[in-house]
Amino acid sequence: MNNKKTRIVIAGAGFGGVYTYKQLHKHFHKSKNVEIILINETNYFLFTPLLHEVATGSISPENIIEPIRKVLRCCLSDLHIGTVEKLDTKNKTIYTKKEAISYDYLVLALGSQSHFFGTPGAKEHAFVLKTLTNAITLKNHFITQIEKATKEPDPKKRKQLLRCVIIGGGPTGVELATEAADLLYSTFGKYYPKYIIKDIEIFLLQKGEQLVPMFPKGMQEKAKKMVKKHGITILFNTKVTKVTKDAVLTTNKKYAKIDTHTAIWTAGVAPKQIPTNEDVLEKNKKGCIIVKPTLQTMTDDQVFVLGDMAYCIDPKTKEPLPALAQVAVQQGKYVANNIVARIKNKPLTSVSYTSKGLLISLGQWMAAGQIAGLQMSGRIIWWLWRSVYVSKLISWQKKFRVIVDWTINLFSPRDISKF
Ligand SMILES: Cc1cc2nc3c(=O)[nH]c(=O)nc-3n(C[C@H](O)[C@H](O)[C@H](O)COP(=O)(O)OP(=O)(O)OC[C@H]3O[C@@H](n4cnc5c(N)ncnc54)[C@H](O)[C@@H]3O)c2cc1C
Repeated sequence: MNNKKTRIVIAGAGFGGVYTYKQLHKHFHKSKNVEIILINETNYFLFTPLLHEVATGSISPENIIEPIRKVLRCCLSDLHIGTVEKLDTKNKTIYTKKEAISYDYLVLALGSQSHFFGTPGAKEHAFVLKTLTNAITLKNHFITQIEKATKEPDPKKRKQLLRCVIIGGGPTGVELATEAADLLYSTFGKYYPKYIIKDIEIFLLQKGEQLVPMFPKGMQEKAKKMVKKHGITILFNTKVTKVTKDAVLTTNKKYAKIDTHTAIWTAGVAPKQIPTNEDVLEKNKKGCIIVKPTLQTMTDDQVFVLGDMAYCIDPKTKEPLPALAQVAVQQGKYVANNIVARIKNKPLTSVSYTSKGLLISLGQWMAAGQIAGLQMSGRIIWWLWRSVYVSKLISWQKKFRVIVDWTINLFSPRDISKF
């Protein structure tokens, strides 16, 4: 008798990986024939949509992460903490630095990383916002710069210390810019002298003609209005050509060189790449792995890919699914159900994505959104944005802690302790 268990390995415990796991667990809880292994480079799940709030002192860092051990429910599951480095589909083995882990079914959900489009100096000198460490580093930097400015007698150098340039006018750039304005002007305004606050400048650089171009027109206009209201200078049709340690160089004639020590790159992401035995995984130009509507790769039916790593055409709209947490979450359920279907020799299901709506925060007390085709903005949408995001945090403890952080912020300045 063959007692070998079917092994499902999930590489990446972010939105796609965790929701695949949760759905698989529903099917296989107490099963003696299946084991599930999660591999992740950190021991926690990171709630990326609130990273900008950590970077601007609105939420404590530990409140937007969840230990993966807490997510693992089933005795048949295990977690391997390590960085995936290589995949051998021929021998059905995935490698981390320390281990070789074999699989029967593999789920690739390693997400994405910042993409600099080859812009010289960007990778070396710009801050990014992809990991918890990135958010903490950025917050510390904001505080370091203003402290240095208080000791800088030269007005030109002081201004340079207090100038912040956010590159990219997509949702992350806009959310970060408005929250950064609240931190730099309002909170710092409570602790630092007026002559310092007066010299703070925030630029938001966008290569196109609109902010958040993927959103409907009304939301774009609202975002532009609110960004300006926060005292932020928007430079449209401005491409960054180089980033150095003390300046951002652009195609904008008036602002060809912006002197700053704070360049923040939010302008692009590219899927995580892992070397494979051969060129077995078909990819699009951006490097996303092309998948069938069942989320299996084109060449290997036992490898599933989802989230930011996958290029998946929505069978309904014929458009590629966007790189969003809500896409990865929904795909996770399909991947799990399709693995179950394969194990049980049943037909697989094509992914069907239903957008739950679009929401963007625009600083304290303001958000814009489109829900069920209706565009709205204001304080109620801000509360809705907060409620939706809190509801998506995994444990009740973290939900409660984020609510406490936000409630405290309504009545007192943000936390400006350096870590
Ligand atoms: C600042 C920011 C704000 C965002 N805001 C929103 C929002 O408001 N709404 C929305 O829908 N989407 C938002 N997104 C996008 C959303 O985070 C992604 O689309 C979503 O996380 C993709 O899910 P995923 O499972 O593919 O990847 P992730 O959730 O990123 O998970 C990837 C996992 O793989 C792990 N990993 C990566 N490389 C390795 C490796 N080599 N070895 C081992 N483990 C590895 C990572 O640690 C992580 O746990 C935001 C993203 C960012 C960066």
